[in-house]
Amino acid sequence: MKIPGFHKADQWISRILSYPGMDKDTLAQKKIYWIASVAVTTMIFCLTLTYHIIFPQLRILIYYGLFLTLVFSQGIIFPIVLRPRGMNTLWMFIDQFLVAVATFIAILKMGGIPYSGGLIFVGLALVFFSLNFWKRTATISIYIVYVVTVILAGAFHPYLTVPPEMTPAVNISLYVINLLWISGFATAFVLSFISRRVKMEQLEAERLKELDEAKTKLYTNITHEFRTPLTIIKGMTELISEKPDQWLEEGLAKIELNTSILLNLVNHMLDLTRVEAGAMPVKMVRGDVNLYIKCIVELFESLAAGKQIRLVYKPCGREAVVDHEPEKLMQIITNLLSNALKFTQPSGRVEVCTKLKDDQTFEIRVADNGPGISEEHLPHIFDRFYRVGESGSVTMPGSGLGLALTRELVKLMQGTIDVESVPGEGAAFTVVLPATRTAPLIDMHEVAEITGRFSEMIPGKFRREDGVPSRKGPSGEKTSGEKPLLLIVEDNKDVVQYLCSLVENEYEVKVAYDGKQGVEKALAFVPDIILSDVMMPVMDGIAMLDRIKKDIRTSHIPVVMLTAKADIGSRLEGLERGADAYLAKPFHRKELLVQLKSLVDIRKKLRERYAPVSDLILPQELEFHREDDFMQRIRKVMMAHMDDDGFDIQMLCRHIAMSRTQLYRKFRYLTDRTIKEYLRTLRLHKARELLLDTDLSVSEAAYRTGFKNISHFSKVFKEEFHINPSEL
Ligand code: ADP
Repeated sequence: MKIPGFHKADQWISRILSYPGMDKDTLAQKKIYWIASVAVTTMIFCLTLTYHIIFPQLRILIYYGLFLTLVFSQGIIFPIVLRPRGMNTLWMFIDQFLVAVATFIAILKMGGIPYSGGLIFVGLALVFFSLNFWKRTATISIYIVYVVTVILAGAFHPYLTVPPEMTPAVNISLYVINLLWISGFATAFVLSFISRRVKMEQLEAERLKELDEAKTKLYTNITHEFRTPLTIIKGMTELISEKPDQWLEEGLAKIELNTSILLNLVNHMLDLTRVEAGAMPVKMVRGDVNLYIKCIVELFESLAAGKQIRLVYKPCGREAVVDHEPEKLMQIITNLLSNALKFTQPSGRVEVCTKLKDDQTFEIRVADNGPGISEEHLPHIFDRFYRVGESGSVTMPGSGLGLALTRELVKLMQGTIDVESVPGEGAAFTVVLPATRTAPLIDMHEVAEITGRFSEMIPGKFRREDGVPSRKGPSGEKTSGEKPLLLIVEDNKDVVQYLCSLVENEYEVKVAYDGKQGVEKALAFVPDIILSDVMMPVMDGIAMLDRIKKDIRTSHIPVVMLTAKADIGSRLEGLERGADAYLAKPFHRKELLVQLKSLVDIRKKLRERYAPVSDLILPQELEFHREDDFMQRIRKVMMAHMDDDGFDIQMLCRHIAMSRTQLYRKFRYLTDRTIKEYLRTLRLHKARELLLDTDLSVSEAAYRTGFKNISHFSKVFKEEFHINPSEL
C-alpha cells in the first residue's frame, strides 16, 4: 500500500535526523523513536484538551496530560536540535522513568488502581515501547519500575480517598478511552519490534551472502594465483625430464622464478592476515629515517644497475629523526621500489625522495618513469589481487597483493598512501607518516641489522629480469663415464629432481617412476645402487625390493629405501627383504651421500670374496649365499668349458640365462673384473695346477685350458705368475 507523500515525509524525516556518516540502522531507530514521540505527544495533547473539556473538574488528569506532553515532546525536539550520534539510552530511560512516576502519582491522586481510569496500563505501554530501542536491561528496568508502582499503588490503596468528581461513569469512560489508545500503541510497538527483527534477519542473511560471495571470489583469486606458477613449475619439470638438454637451463630459471612468486604470495597473504587479525605488533623506534631509507635503497642498487635503471635517492636535509617502525617501513619501501624497478624499462629512472613537512609529517615518495597506470585502474591498485595484467603495457609476474599489504602496513603506522600516474610517463607513490618523536631512540647498529635481515626479501621478484645464474642441474639419464650408476625409483618428480641434484656429481643417474619401472630398469641397466621410495603407484617399494633381491640378475644390487617418516613397520619389512639401508625423508645431502658411500664398503667385501680365482671353497655365510651360488654356477660353467677356446661370454650368458649386460655388470660388480679377464685367469690357474700336479707338457696344459697359441700362453702365464710355464 502506498500512502501519498509518505516517501517525501520519510525523506524529510531522514534529512532532519541524520548527520554525515550515520549508519542505516541508527537512522532507522531514530526515525521510529521520533515518529513515535510525535504520535504520542500529539495523542496525549489532544486527549488532555478533550479531558479538559469533558471533565474540567478532574484537574489532576489535566496536569498529568500536560506533563506527559512536555516529556514526550522533548523526544521530538532533542534529536533535531542536538542531533546526537546514536540513541541515548540513559536519556530515554529518564524520560520513561519520569512518565512512570507521574502516572503513579496521578493514580494515587485519582483514588487508587480501581479509579485510575486505565492509567495503570500506561507503564505497560512503556515496557513495549522500550523494546524497540533499548537494550534488554533497559526494558527490564522499566518493567521493574512499573511493577513497583503497581505494588505500591495496591499497598497504599486503603489509605487513599477517591475524589468526588471520580464517579463510576467518569471512571469507566476514562478506562475505555485510555485502554483504547494504550492498547493501540502497545500493539503498534510490538508490531514494529517484530518487523524490525524480521528486517534485521534479512539484513543478516544478505550480509552472510555477501560474505560468502566475497569468500568465493577470494578463493577463486587465490587458487588462480597459485595455479599459474604451479602449472609452470610442473610443466617445466616435465620438460626437463623429457628433454634435459634443451630445457634444463631455461626450465630451472622458470621454476626458480615461479617458486619465488609463490613464496612471495604466501608471505604477503600471511602478513595481510596478521595485520588484519591485529597480530602484527608495531614496535616504533625513533631514529634517522633518512639514513634508514638510504640503507634500504642501497640494497636495490645492484638490481637497478642490472636493469640499467638509474636509482636516485634524494633525502630531505641531513637528518630526520622521527618515530617509525623499521620492519614495516622496510616492507613498504621494498614493495614500492620492487614495483617501480619491475615496471620501469631499461635506461629508465626511479627516484626515492623524502620530505619533512612543517615538522608534522614525514613524506616518502617513490617515483618512476615507467609505463604508469591508467586512470581506470588507479582506484583499484590497492585492492587485493588486483593486477593491471595483460591490458597494461607490460605483463609482469606478481601477486597483486603487494600494494594491498603496503597500504595495510602504512595504516598500521597511522599513515596514508596515495598514487599519481600519467600513463606512459610514470607512476609516483607517496606515503605520508606522522612525524612524532616519542618512541625510544634506536642506534644505527640495529638499523644495519634489520636491513641485513631483510635484504633477502629483495631478489625474489626480479629473477627473470636479473638473468638467472646458469646453474647446472641434473642432466637426466646419462650412461657414459666412470661414475657408479644409481637408479632412483620415486614417483614424485620434484623429489626425483632434488635427489638428482644431490648426487649428480658422484653418480650417474637413471630414474624410474614406480616400482614396476624400477624392476625393469634394474634389469636393463643393472645399476650399482638403487635408491627407492616406499609408497609408489603400480608397485610399491617393498614389492620391488622383493623382486630385485630374489632375482639372481639383480640380487647383488644394494638398495636404499626412502620413506616419508621413519616408520618402524615398513623399516623392518624393508630390512627383512634385504634393503641394505634405510633413509627417512626429509634428509640432508650429507646423510644421503654417507649412506650411499657406506654401501660401497659392502661392495668391497664382495670383491674380497669373489675376486680371487684360486680359492674355490668359500666360507659359508648366510648373507652371501645367493651371490655364492651365482659365482659357483659361473665357475662351474667356465670349468666345464676350460678346454674350449671358442667358449665366450655369449655362451656363458646362455648357460646362466642372463643378458650380456646383466652378466657383465653383475660380474664386474662382484669381482671388479671382466668375464674375459676372470676366465683367462681361471684358465691360467688351472694350467698351473696341471703343470704342478701332472706330467702334462706346457703345450698340453695350454691346450687343455683353452690356449691354442703356445707363445701367447707363455706370455700371459708369465704376466700372471712371474714365471715361465716351462720352468715349472
Ligand atoms: P603485483 O605483485 O602484481 O606487483 P601489487 O599490488 O604490487 O601487485 O601491484 C598491483 C598492480 O599495480 C600491478 O599489477 C601493476 O599493474 C600496478 N603497479 C604497481 N606499481 C606500479 C608501477 N610502479 N608502475 C606501473 N604499474 C604499477
